Amino acid sequence: MEKDDVRRTVAQACRVLALAGLTEDILGHVSVRVDDDTMLLRCRGPHEQGLLHTTPDDVREVRLDGTGDPGDGYRAPHEASIHAELLRARPEVRAVVHAHPRHAVLAELAGLPLRPVFGAYHIPAYRLAVDGVPVYPRSVLVSTPALGRELAAAMGESDQCMLHGHGIAVVGTSVQQAVLRALALEELARWTVELTGLGASPPDVPPEDRRELPDLGIELNDRTMWRHHLARLERAGLAVG
Ligand SMILES: [Zn+2]
Repeated sequence: MEKDDVRRTVAQACRVLALAGLTEDILGHVSVRVDDDTMLLRCRGPHEQGLLHTTPDDVREVRLDGTGDPGDGYRAPHEASIHAELLRARPEVRAVVHAHPRHAVLAELAGLPLRPVFGAYHIPAYRLAVDGVPVYPRSVLVSTPALGRELAAAMGESDQCMLHGHGIAVVGTSVQQAVLRALALEELARWTVELTGLGASPPDVPPEDRRELPDLGIELNDRTMWRHHLARLERAGLAVG
């Protein structure tokens, strides 16, 4: 894929996350690996307006070692190390999402375990609950490579991680996969918080039902869902030009 197409996809990803309420103002970012030393990262420009208004021009080439200048008055976000160190530690990862979704943070702060209590309602979110979501126990700004490595170590082999009192980090083999995984994680957390508010504590999906929850495949889970989210952007007048 050409770099301009990747920039556009990252801009769409930022808008999808913001429209879904995962990054309600200016915080959060998305990155894509270019090669072993470089990523395309949503940077902060002189006319920053928040994730919902991201343009391809906001997506800049940044070195994983933190050196270099994104150009045109842009700077890498304070937490670029989240992206750089996850991409360094995980060669199979192509994209990273960092966001501050309300329910994920609420659930983690309240010590609520994300359990697989629903099934066919949202199979990707159910699978996240089965796989488990590790917690990075510090609520710091991940602003240095050392802190980024600490986060990557806490995340281990998982594709998602809760950052205590802070947000989430999610990885994928594509931007679309990482974004949809972040959305599924927030949905799981939202249900967990709402069920707790209702005073309900349903049991986990039983083994005989788990066997009837197949992976619906990349076409439905990723491609169709991505088209759905792009259509929502378009309908909201937020399509990336
Ligand atoms: Zn953050």
